[in-house]
Amino acid sequence: MSSPHTHPQLFSFEFYPPKTEEGAASLQVVHSKLAKLNPDFFSVTFGAGGSTRDLTFTTVIDIQAKGIAAAPHLSCVASTKDNIRAILKDYQQHGIRKIVALRGDLPSGTMSAGEFRYANELVEFIRQETGDHFQIHVAAYPEVHPQAANGVEDFKNFKRKVNAGADAVITQYFYNAEAYFYFVDACEKANISIPIVPGIMPITQYAQLFRFSDMCGADIPRWLRKRLESFGDDRESIQAFGLDVVSELCQRLLDGGAPGLHFYTMNQAAPTLAILNNLHVKSQD
Ligand code: FAD
Repeated sequence: MSSPHTHPQLFSFEFYPPKTEEGAASLQVVHSKLAKLNPDFFSVTFGAGGSTRDLTFTTVIDIQAKGIAAAPHLSCVASTKDNIRAILKDYQQHGIRKIVALRGDLPSGTMSAGEFRYANELVEFIRQETGDHFQIHVAAYPEVHPQAANGVEDFKNFKRKVNAGADAVITQYFYNAEAYFYFVDACEKANISIPIVPGIMPITQYAQLFRFSDMCGADIPRWLRKRLESFGDDRESIQAFGLDVVSELCQRLLDGGAPGLHFYTMNQAAPTLAILNNLHVKSQD
């Protein structure tokens, strides 16, 4: 890896809200390990259709109380305006200043009875209701959102979120650095100047990663897929190889101008810490 970076970069770490006591206890440990890297913020996901509303809230408040900013994800699909208004008010009253605004996905076969269809409507609503209180992050898909008609339409839709008042962007994860650089180029051509932070998914196993990537439209390049498969159930080799691949990817992204990295930690500290260690990002103790 190349030399340490001298300019500050924005690192953020994503958690999902733990559903069990063991999960909550383990997240406390993970949080304290990652907090030593002094990230810009931690974010906490929001289950489909608001299924984790309370868990997301308590996790966010708990993290924020420990001193580093927490950003709740908020998805609007199947939600009413009253419902979203109440959630925003709660967060505002608890001093939360960042939010990740999403459409979300409904479990297949469910009909949406909500008052929002797309994330741009949520961004607009947050601005209407709360002015500049929240720094709003939105999602982007360098490899194109799986439901989009095509890349051009998807980019137009992405721009709606920026025009509605988004402050920053977190991308879906990807393993093709070019997809990110092309996306950033397209943003520059469209005069979009807010930070586009790549989302990073560490590789620690592959069956679940393949399944999940198919669903969310993230491409696993053939060479990577084949190589991972060749390790069978040799976890150690998968993890060592995954660490190499993802560290190289991160280094390329930062060297190419990415303003920082957002890690999908899956509530584990070790894979993210190992990547950041390879990038010479040091903890504060
Ligand atoms: P949108 O921006 O609304 O886009 C969805 C689709 O609709 C795209 O195909 C787009 O091209 C199209 N579209 C958008 N606007 C319009 C419009 N005005 N007219 C016509 N078409 C339009 N999911 C969760 O359930 N909980 C989470 O916590 C969560 N966190 C995430 C965090 C990140 C960083 C990312 C990248 C994704 C996350 N997701 C989460 C997944 C996300 O909810 C799904 O990818 C969802 O399918 C799209 O959400 P979006 O906000 O990008 O939607």
